[in-house]
Order: sequence, then structure tokens, then C-alpha cells
Amino acid sequence: MNRITIAIDGFSSCGKSTLARQLAQHLGYTYIDSGAMYRAVALYVMENGLVGDGQLLKEGLMQVLDGLDIRFQHDPMTDKSATTLNGRNVEQEIRTMAVSNHVTLVSPVPEVRAKLVRLQQQMGREKGVVMDGRDIGTVVFPDAEVKLFMTARPEVRAQRRFHELKMKGATVTLAEVEANIHQRDLDDTTRKADPLTKAADAIVIDNSDITAEEQFVRALDIVLGVLAQVGQE
Ligand code: C5P
Repeated sequence: MNRITIAIDGFSSCGKSTLARQLAQHLGYTYIDSGAMYRAVALYVMENGLVGDGQLLKEGLMQVLDGLDIRFQHDPMTDKSATTLNGRNVEQEIRTMAVSNHVTLVSPVPEVRAKLVRLQQQMGREKGVVMDGRDIGTVVFPDAEVKLFMTARPEVRAQRRFHELKMKGATVTLAEVEANIHQRDLDDTTRKADPLTKAADAIVIDNSDITAEEQFVRALDIVLGVLAQVGQE
């Protein structure tokens, strides 16, 4: 069967990764979490004194950016893919609120985007990938056969993310999560370089009032329709 590229974009905390994982597992495709790569760069600047007065010290980042090694590697402990930064497993650390609060310092930087987009395109070269992010259908894979654009009401997203963080034992308030989601939506949609926007040919899924299972069925239907068409070409 022909293998295709599935691009999933959308706002923060709207279940993109849940859907992307489900589709990848069902189809035997590779799931790639592009947001994890931006989070890894954010963790690097936080840990290496490259944030001053809440601002990115860009010069410093530019000196090391080329050498930053960001990958996904199988973690035998969890039997899942883990994000690594310069060889260190950072899968847990990049999911904290502190990183969520710093990630939009690095994601608007064109040089950071150029590096990560190039890596993402290499990872998807062979097709058979489901990648989620903000610019996958517009910039990384503009020719993706399936493009989904996910959204949900902000209060629904905040509740879900709050619940997820609580389950992991984080000490965080709903208000903090709401503020972070609001800020990232604003930063991601208004930045100059590759802002979050729906590709003209993306299909919108609003999952405010549907379950993850219903969303999966809807998305799989779209994917199977495209696969049937591609198979006939
Ligand atoms: O998807 P996630 O919420 O983990 O992404 C974290 C941040 O990384 C986003 O808020 C955004 O600023 C940035 N990002 C991006 N482009 C992508 C994926 C993520 O700018 N393709």
C-alpha cells in the first residue's frame, strides 16, 4: 500500500498528539512530535544561562545552535520514543510548565525554525509519518496528502491540559494553564516566521464536544479515503 504523509496542526493542547499517535499506531506509521523539538531548544536556553530578564539572549543561542543535537530515540525503560538533547533523554523535562512558558522565546526565531524544519523534513523523507505541530501542513510538508487542523474551545483545552499535568503530579493551577495556553496561542499565531495558520487544503476538526475515540474515527475515515484515492493513481 502507498504510504502518505499526515500533517496535523492546531492550537496548543487540543489533543493533536493523542490523535497523531493513534493514527500512527493504527497505520504502522512513525509519529513525530515537532513541538518536542522546540521544547528541547527552550530547555537548552533555560539550562545554559541564555535567558536574561525573561528575554532570549539570541547571540548566545546562535553560537551553539548548529551543534545542538535533537533526536527521537527508543527508550527501553518506557518502550516509547523519547526526545533527546545532546544525547540526554529530556522527555520528562520538556513537558513542564516552565518549559511551556519559555518555548515561545525560541519558536519565533527564524534560525531555530530553519534548523528544526530541515530535521523534520529529513525525518519524513520516506513518508509513512504522522507529524503534529503548528506549521506542518503549511511549511514542513506543504504537499502532505492529509492535512488536519485541530481546534477546541480554550476553556476545554485548559481543563484537559490541567488534568494531564495534575495526573503527572505537577503543582500547577488552572489559571496558570489558561494563561499559558492563551499566551502561546497569541505568540504562535502572530509571530512573523511560519505563524500558526490553517493550510488552505486542511480539514478542520473541532474536538470540543467529541471524545478522543470519535475524533479518531473521523480522522481515520479521512485518511482511509485519501489512501484509497492514492492507491488508484
Ligand atoms: O505542540 P507543543 O505544544 O508541544 O509545542 C510547543 C511550542 O512549540 C508551541 O507553542 C510553538 O511555539 C512551538 N512549535 C512551533 N512549531 C511547531 C511545533 C511547535 O512553533 N511545528
